Amino acid sequence: MVSMLDVSGVSAGYGRIGVLKEITLRVGPGEIVAIVGANGAGKSTLLKTISGLVRARRGMIRVEDQEITHWAPEKIVRSGVRHVPEGRQLFGPLSVLDNLLLGAYGDSTLANRKAVMARVEQVYEIFPILRQRNAQRANTLSGGEQQMLAIGRALMGTTKLLLLDEPTTGLAPLIVREILNVILRLRRQGISILLVEQNARLAFSVATRAYVMETGRVVLAGTPEQLILEDTVRKAYLGNSPKLIRTEVTQR
Ligand code: ATP
Repeated sequence: MVSMLDVSGVSAGYGRIGVLKEITLRVGPGEIVAIVGANGAGKSTLLKTISGLVRARRGMIRVEDQEITHWAPEKIVRSGVRHVPEGRQLFGPLSVLDNLLLGAYGDSTLANRKAVMARVEQVYEIFPILRQRNAQRANTLSGGEQQMLAIGRALMGTTKLLLLDEPTTGLAPLIVREILNVILRLRRQGISILLVEQNARLAFSVATRAYVMETGRVVLAGTPEQLILEDTVRKAYLGNSPKLIRTEVTQR
């Protein structure tokens, strides 16, 4: 079967600093794949390399049947790969609506205002709180609302593969649940997801499969059920507990 994403032997870094070392991983259609690992393992660099912000020095990246390794970031976005960066990077002084409209920029399927506003409506259905905050400045939103806006902005473009960088960091438990729920619902809509998380327990609660990264390398891969059986994973990432609690999707 054709993968949604195939990363094969990819090395990348910043200037003379090498960070990623021969990373190989795959996201199948409709999968939620988690990348877990400690601070500085290279998780964010991996997402940036997939979205073209950091150049791969070696290896190959494919999205479905197209090789995208040397494509410009804007071309990768247009191909349906959408990256929600760590720290959200919203346009603070702009309203919620304006931030969403910027997410539609360059998507040729959104040729007129009617199509764009229909897409805004879809995002508001996923995140009803954003509809209430429509005219509010992004920098006055709560942390959870900002994360929802960042994901909503990504979803304004036609999305096949969503790259999420630590979407739950710093959020209250109730909001974390809501974000996880959205991730599960997006998967049901056919969007494949690559989820970077420091919190392995959260990532494992929604992932179909996961990869563990250490100092720029993939050191383990498997389903969450397989990975919690590994002593090293339990000790380093799960507070030594063997319990795996799956988040169930709830419909509104
Ligand atoms: P965290 O969970 O803390 O975000 P991470 O696993 O996402 O960590 P990266 O942010 O990818 O890790 O960082 C991997 C390594 O690359 C680190 O050693 C970091 O210092 C380095 N690095 C990241 N960004 C840059 C940059 N712009 N220039 C130089 N080095 C960088």
